Amino acid sequence: MARNPRYDVLFEPVKIGPVTAPNRFYAVPHASGMTNAMPHMRAAFRGTKAEGGWGVVCTGYVSIDPSSDDTPLPFATLWDEDDIRAHALMTDAVHKHGALAGIELWHGGGSVMNRASRIPPMSPSGTSWMATHVNFMGNQRPRVMDAHDIRSLLQWQSEAASKARRAGFDIVYVYAGMGYLPYEFLISEWNQRTDAYGGPVRNRVRIVRELLEVTRDAVAGRCAVALRISLEELRARPSEVAASEAHEVVELLADVPDLWDVKLDSSPTDCAPSRFAAEGSHEPVIDFVKKITRQPVVGVGRFTSPDSMVGQIRRGVLDLIGAARPSIADPFLPNKINEGREQDIRECIGCNICISSWHDSVPVRCTQNPTIGEEWRRGWHPERVAPAGSSAAVLVVGAGPAGLECALTLARRGYEVTLAEATDEIGGRLRFETRLPGLATWGRVLDWRRDQLQRLPNVNLYRGNRLAAEEILELGHTHVVIATGARWARMLYSTLEIPAGNLDAGNVYTPDDVAAGTHLEDPVAVFDFDNYYMGGALAEHLAKAGHQVAYVTPAGHVSAWVIMSNEQPQVHRALANAAVTVHTLSRVTAFEPGELRLANLFTGAETRLACKSLLIVGARFANDSLYQSLVARPDALAAAGIASVTRIGDALAPGALVHAVYSGHRYARELDANPSTLSFRRDAPLRSQAITAPEGINA
Ligand code: ADP
Ligand code: SF4
Repeated sequence: MARNPRYDVLFEPVKIGPVTAPNRFYAVPHASGMTNAMPHMRAAFRGTKAEGGWGVVCTGYVSIDPSSDDTPLPFATLWDEDDIRAHALMTDAVHKHGALAGIELWHGGGSVMNRASRIPPMSPSGTSWMATHVNFMGNQRPRVMDAHDIRSLLQWQSEAASKARRAGFDIVYVYAGMGYLPYEFLISEWNQRTDAYGGPVRNRVRIVRELLEVTRDAVAGRCAVALRISLEELRARPSEVAASEAHEVVELLADVPDLWDVKLDSSPTDCAPSRFAAEGSHEPVIDFVKKITRQPVVGVGRFTSPDSMVGQIRRGVLDLIGAARPSIADPFLPNKINEGREQDIRECIGCNICISSWHDSVPVRCTQNPTIGEEWRRGWHPERVAPAGSSAAVLVVGAGPAGLECALTLARRGYEVTLAEATDEIGGRLRFETRLPGLATWGRVLDWRRDQLQRLPNVNLYRGNRLAAEEILELGHTHVVIATGARWARMLYSTLEIPAGNLDAGNVYTPDDVAAGTHLEDPVAVFDFDNYYMGGALAEHLAKAGHQVAYVTPAGHVSAWVIMSNEQPQVHRALANAAVTVHTLSRVTAFEPGELRLANLFTGAETRLACKSLLIVGARFANDSLYQSLVARPDALAAAGIASVTRIGDALAPGALVHAVYSGHRYARELDANPSTLSFRRDAPLRSQAITAPEGINA
């Protein structure tokens, strides 16, 4: 199909200093969880984005010196010759498809703990980042940078920029954002210096200017020099000479960088979850930059709609459409727009499982795109699948996220697929969950798969079909996939921190009951030890529906795990706004309609709450009775010609959407595959020299 001419502007080349981006699609720097120990995975992951049409593809954060060490978080390094070779794999993979490669050079300053390098961290005035996120907490405080440290910083940036040039990068960054070292100089609380680098904005900006200058000298006209900067805090601060400190900074540096890459300051606002922020949420902070500089500006905002992208260009907000998450959810987003296939875009749902992967220190995972991070390791391409390995017919039972993904991928491979769903609507758990506050965007998981399935002739969908074992035996498909989901349990929480003790009292409910429309009598208590979104979302949902709601959790925060997905500050605010009372560090010990007893997790001190309905959001167990009844009858299976019965998704192991989609995809990829190809490849660092021990040490 031809491209819609309305989107032509997105495919215009953009000059960035000495290099030219072939279009306006810019995959901005973002952490991938792939360190220099995974150079082939990383190259294939970023190369796939270039293949999908992104005109610029950048690395994540790359340390310029061992004094910037974010261990155990997965950061990249550019410290030595081996690192150059590791990054060159990525630049080659990106260049192969005509895209530019960018590198985000990074020094963490007082926000890193240097746990592995054991070098004392440094910051402008000895101030450290006192994070409340346990991933970022530590006990090592930075020392105050002296004049020698400032010269060293400039030297490290210069050397790293030369290495970046040798590794084949086209765009080299100075990174003054997100609490890292150059940003620490910009913000007055971090920077209490009385020398030429502290005090008024023109002094605080000096180090950024000097970093840009040494970078420009080092790349010797061969690469563009980009400045990535966080502007949220600065924009909120008044200035005597400009509209805000952010305006003052941009005016002082206006045309010094070849490219402005503008963003917000903290992960929960910069990479805001869709539950609490819409597409384009950065605009009110960064909209002024293009009015000051003549250089191109790139910014993000979870853009998945080509019309929003065109709007950003036409309204003079951005020159390049930056994306981290949309390029993860669909590495082929630009090509799909170029080919007039916008409806094929697998839109990011804003769940931030990708970010949680970085917090977990593992390669990036995505709810929408199960192939991300698996391009090299498992050889999964986001747009191509191997043809069917046989003419076998496959029955998939259950049309939740796992069953839908499985049926879709099997059908793309060319299998004859029957998809049976018990209810009248497909979508499984999404049918209810997308009606909870802020979760509508997650419906894209269902919408995209429904739309793709409808266009494939080899899938037969039967709704309102609750299959029993006998019927499955009669149907006699060669392979049967059980994707029947999971159910929540009415179990309490033991001091061993495991679910224990079924609560059989009246008025005890689970999310399945709320989904089924059961009425809850007030006051309601939500007891959450699942710790993901469900407990918090249900508490907010019930409160907004007019219920009087208390939220109880053994954890220290509401929805404790969602600190990993950048949702926690907003969940706390949402519950406060909905007048939900919160009881943390508390365990339910007894309930009878009228009274709920809680014990403090550590002291055992008892609290009693007036409560008529207890909603437990805790343990989940697989709905696998259908599976069990089939595998218990091997002779009947053989007689029916059924060669395999396999559980996937929640019916195998209850998890988040990301796990269900991955599980369904993996089954479909691996059906009839040669068993020797099924284990994933293990990546390893590149090493040019044998590792030798220092003298006197036995290696
Ligand atoms: P997952 O997240 O693993 O995809 P879900 O709970 O979202 O799991 O979806 C499971 C789906 O399976 C639901 O839509 C449910 O109605 C359906 N289902 C459960 N049992 C049967 C059955 N015996 N026959 C057909 N569909 C079933
Ligand atoms: Fe988007 Fe979620 Fe995928 Fe991240 S994990 S790219 S937020 S869909």
